[in-house]
Amino acid sequence: MNYSRSSLQYAREQDRKDPLRSFRSHFQMDDPHIIYLDGNSLGRLPLKTIGHMQEVIEKQWGNRLIRSWNDDWIGLTGRLSRKIASLVGASQDEILVGDSTSVNLYKLVIAALQHQEHRHIVISDNLNFPSDLYVLQGAIHLLGSKHELKLVESEDGIGIDPERIEQLIDKDTALLTLSHAAFKSAYLYDMEKITGMAHKKGALMLWDLSHSVGSVPVDLNRFEVDLAIGCTYKYLNGGPGAPAFLYIRKDLQEKLTSPIWGWFGSERQFDFDLKYQPAAGVQKFAAGTPGILSMAALEPALDIHLQAGMGAIREKSILQTEYVKNLAEVLLTSSGFVLGSPSDPSRRGSHISLKHPEGYRICQALIQDDKNPYQVIPDFRLPDNIRLGIAPLYTTFEELYHTITLLADIVSSGRFMNFSDTVSGVT
Ligand SMILES: *Cc1c(COP(=O)(O)O)cnc(C)c1O
Repeated sequence: MNYSRSSLQYAREQDRKDPLRSFRSHFQMDDPHIIYLDGNSLGRLPLKTIGHMQEVIEKQWGNRLIRSWNDDWIGLTGRLSRKIASLVGASQDEILVGDSTSVNLYKLVIAALQHQEHRHIVISDNLNFPSDLYVLQGAIHLLGSKHELKLVESEDGIGIDPERIEQLIDKDTALLTLSHAAFKSAYLYDMEKITGMAHKKGALMLWDLSHSVGSVPVDLNRFEVDLAIGCTYKYLNGGPGAPAFLYIRKDLQEKLTSPIWGWFGSERQFDFDLKYQPAAGVQKFAAGTPGILSMAALEPALDIHLQAGMGAIREKSILQTEYVKNLAEVLLTSSGFVLGSPSDPSRRGSHISLKHPEGYRICQALIQDDKNPYQVIPDFRLPDNIRLGIAPLYTTFEELYHTITLLADIVSSGRFMNFSDTVSGVT
């Protein structure tokens, strides 16, 4: 067939050819009028999770009670570590699942700075997630304000040339920490190159994988990454506030000390000894009792990713972000939209940011206007980014087609002007 690339038929053809198309049916999709493009903030609910949670609550908690620790819960954390490890190219004993991304970052930053005691510079960038930068400021404060945080500034708000980072790293650099995929623009750093730059000067490298894990293949061991953290409620579909994870390269584990000494990170936890002895390996970075219910909800979600394979997910993600970019170029450029993501797919994660001076009101119209044939749920990041998050396990080309044509209609009709430009609530 010979359709125009900007036709609905073309989008449907892409969906028919999609090797991952059956995965959409693994998720709850109860409203055909909703196009959900926010899987990079809160992933969809896997159907298996519903039945699994019912069982965990009624049988494991309700019926088996405390016995469930030995039946299943002690093993659960290990299983999750193994599954996450295989998604990020690490081994099971380098991953610890639990706590939030922010807390895990705090633990690793304190440990890294204490280990690098003769170095006083911490480097990050202004594309990083603000919480990560707050955590860095807080860690420096706690350690007596002896460190200096240097932020590399992006010139175009989209990406940063690695050479500019290289110029900053020297023998005083204790730690370089960056988001692998930037939350606003989806700019994807070259993990191998940047990690190598840090190592050449003896700095530790810490990657935040929150916006890449589950959408971009990650190979921590191959590039000898020192430290990493990541989030599981975004592309990994683990559920609201799902447990995060941390990674410490095997040979570094004995050199680092966790700043929180709790019983789950101690050796022989059930001896109830009064003197703390750290557990071996990455386990010493655990603190207290893991949230078993949210851990349990994560497992079916990880299984879907393992079944689909990160290579296939990435391939579809690139086809879909390219599709959105090209369609936006054809249908939206004259309406004042500008691409806010890298145009090179190898330097881009799994969302497309479209910038527009009226971005907030356009977003409100996408979500709420009852004239829309579909309700599109993207998200908005100040000052002008409409983020279209693509989750290849369930996003279809047809949904992306409807989104871009709807955007064109909302702007050309001026319908967005019926909405307030006061930013409120969770965006
Ligand atoms: C989502 C995200 C977080 C989230 O941190 P929480 O502690 O889960 O709230 C942190 N860092 C980055 C880069 C993120 O994208």
